[in-house]
Amino acid sequence: MEAQTINGKELSIKKRVEIQENVQSLKKEGVVPGLAVILVGNNDASRTYVANKQKACKELGIYSELITFDATVTQDVLLSKIHALNENKDIHGILVQLPLPKHLDEDEIIDAISPMKDVDGFHPINVGKMVIGQDALMPCTPSGVMVMLEDHGISLSGKHVVIVGRSNIVGKPLGQMLLNQDATVTYCHSKTHDLASFTKQADILIAAVGKANFITPDYVKNGAVVIDVGINRNEEGKLCGDVAYHQVKEIASYITPVPGGVGPMTITMLMYNTVKAARKAIER
Ligand code: NDP
Repeated sequence: MEAQTINGKELSIKKRVEIQENVQSLKKEGVVPGLAVILVGNNDASRTYVANKQKACKELGIYSELITFDATVTQDVLLSKIHALNENKDIHGILVQLPLPKHLDEDEIIDAISPMKDVDGFHPINVGKMVIGQDALMPCTPSGVMVMLEDHGISLSGKHVVIVGRSNIVGKPLGQMLLNQDATVTYCHSKTHDLASFTKQADILIAAVGKANFITPDYVKNGAVVIDVGINRNEEGKLCGDVAYHQVKEIASYITPVPGGVGPMTITMLMYNTVKAARKAIER
């Protein structure tokens, strides 16, 4: 039987209604959630991502501020801007669009963001809290995947989840979140020998590789849940994921499409984190 599609676009709309309600109640309490986005240089993809984030803020009634710098900006200038935003009471979330130009120290920039305003969930304090199961701002793409699984009633306890990809923004944190929900997690990466022998064991297979059509049916167990985090362009220049969607759909139980799968959830979770940070700020 063909897999059921997990529609991230629809789920995103549903979640955004809930987030908007939370924005409204914050406003009644006199607080407008605010997000500052820092964009360095002229990378086209980054500009598109930032524009989409600002559009989402506008739709949900979240105040957003775009701060742009030339690609030649110095580390010190960037750091002092972040320090100022950390002190700014109208701003509850700070996001530095990555990647940054090579001369800048990305780790130091992320460390400078107040953990309470770190809506990307990349600050070591938030990463550490997540690992030990404390409340934290969690990275948006992995959180989006967790919401998708939960919304479809896909149980995690005791399930074997295999994640292909171990980046700090997707694979590693997602594995940790799944572990916290009692899944058994296997991480695979570019040095893994005989990848299919691992992925074939997965009850839930997550692809976060960045290679078009990388996961074919040979890598998938019958009836597995397949989550495709990848965003790639195929030979025709069309957007696609890491999974050979049409073939894998024939054997999976659930599958996420690209586009319209994990992608839309990422920005929704950024909005969620911004509202959560604003709520926490007034509770402090
Ligand atoms: P990275 O390039 O940082 O990580 C890719 C991972 O894939 C690495 O861990 C790498 O292993 C592993 N890998 C590469 N080749 C192989 C291989 N042949 N076999 C097994 N593993 C392999 O990418 P990201 O994690 O940042 O992103 C992954 C994908 O997800 C990309 O397509 C990206 O565009 C997309 N993405 C989508 C988002 C969304 O909103 N939907 C958000 C963020 C990313 P190693 O560590 O050994 O190098």
